[in-house]
Amino acid sequence: MAADIHDIIIIGGGVGGSALAKAMAEAGAEVLVLERETQFRDRVRGEAIMPWGVVEAVELGIRDVIASSGGHELPWWNTYQGSRRPGHRDLVATTRAGAPALAIYHPVMQQALIEAAASAGATVSRGARVVGVNANGTPRVTVETGHGREAFRARLIVAADGRGSLAREWGGFQVRRDPEQTLVAGVLLDGVTASDDAAHVGLDTQGGRFVLIFPQSQGRARCYFCYPEASGLRMTGQQDLPRFVQESQKAGVAAEYYQQATAAGPLATFDAAAVWVEHPYKPGVALIGDAAASSDPTWGQGLSLAIKDARVLRDHLLSNDDWEEAGNAYADEHKQYYGVVHTAELWHSELLLETGEEADVRRARALPLWREDRSRNPDTFFSGPGETLDEKARRRFFGEE
Ligand SMILES: Cc1cc2nc3c(=O)[nH]c(=O)nc-3n(C[C@H](O)[C@H](O)[C@H](O)COP(=O)(O)OP(=O)(O)OC[C@H]3O[C@@H](n4cnc5c(N)ncnc54)[C@H](O)[C@@H]3O)c2cc1C
Repeated sequence: MAADIHDIIIIGGGVGGSALAKAMAEAGAEVLVLERETQFRDRVRGEAIMPWGVVEAVELGIRDVIASSGGHELPWWNTYQGSRRPGHRDLVATTRAGAPALAIYHPVMQQALIEAAASAGATVSRGARVVGVNANGTPRVTVETGHGREAFRARLIVAADGRGSLAREWGGFQVRRDPEQTLVAGVLLDGVTASDDAAHVGLDTQGGRFVLIFPQSQGRARCYFCYPEASGLRMTGQQDLPRFVQESQKAGVAAEYYQQATAAGPLATFDAAAVWVEHPYKPGVALIGDAAASSDPTWGQGLSLAIKDARVLRDHLLSNDDWEEAGNAYADEHKQYYGVVHTAELWHSELLLETGEEADVRRARALPLWREDRSRNPDTFFSGPGETLDEKARRRFFGEE
């Protein structure tokens, strides 16, 4: 570190920030992680990494950290429609990733990764809230701790401060948003009786509702209920738990799964619309994870994207001494792969979650064709953003050819 200038300052010790800190510290970089929380708590975030994200985690060297701190493998993907279970998918055998999904309690994963970053040599400061970023000259952050304000300088600042990122505003990034369509409510439940070797997913296309259960073993499961924003319903707090259970059952979850369920954490509801930055790099500042693009949680891609962002940025920084070029190369690549995931999310939301006559006509046309030819539905959510989602792919997806 030359004259108190770090190689990298990372704002936020979430999955994205800590994973990058660990990887860059292992490669010999001087890394400072600034995390505002002194103790991680349940913020009702993602707790299931899809198979392609697990492969990214292996490449970044964090898969074992997650697995050994309580990661629970989900080799099966069960889908439900009403009382039927039409799908029982073997994720290892049928995805290009060739891996199971991995479920873990988010605060435990954050703690394990930030400790791994510190063990790799990163300096970790907890209770350190960043209150400003200045990228003019040598990039600089201003931090508030219990001892007052302090400024730190670095060759590169990485904003990994999550879906409400302020750092991207301070960095002058232009933020884009999809229109609101879906809300996602989530809660950690104990006493869930769904088998714990599978993710359980119920879809009610008539009501535009979608339920996801990600078991973490011994009856504990992270459960989500996705529903139309137009319903005007916003579930929050323990008093809404009976409603959460009731609505989830209406959307296709077997009634007995939740019969004995009790809350093991807060219940909260979020807007699901994607919020993203087209080119998440400006001189001296890169954005990763939700700060770069918070995707619609309905489709469970956020953790995989955050891990991929850290892996791709690491690879560019380590292969190019010119970090200006490396940052732009990361941002170009991000635009491509996030673009594919985002397109897949928009198509699935339009086809599966929109309600009304036109939506029913679209489904009546497309879904029977999917059953005849599975390749019409790109496997992006499980296998990753490797496919090109062009106009031809769109027409095949919607059954227009
Ligand atoms: C309801 C819901 C369900 C989801 N379900 C899934 C799922 O099933 N699968 C999936 O893959 N993804 C899911 N996601 C998305 C996933 O949770 C996120 O994509 C992922 O957590 C992003 O990680 P991150 O490191 O970018 O941000 P975060 O996890 O938000 O971490 C940001 C960190 O920055 C810190 N921070 C923020 N501001 C400051 C500051 N000013 N100074 C210092 N520190 C700061 C925060 O304390 C936090 O520790 C879901 C999201 C939601 C909301």
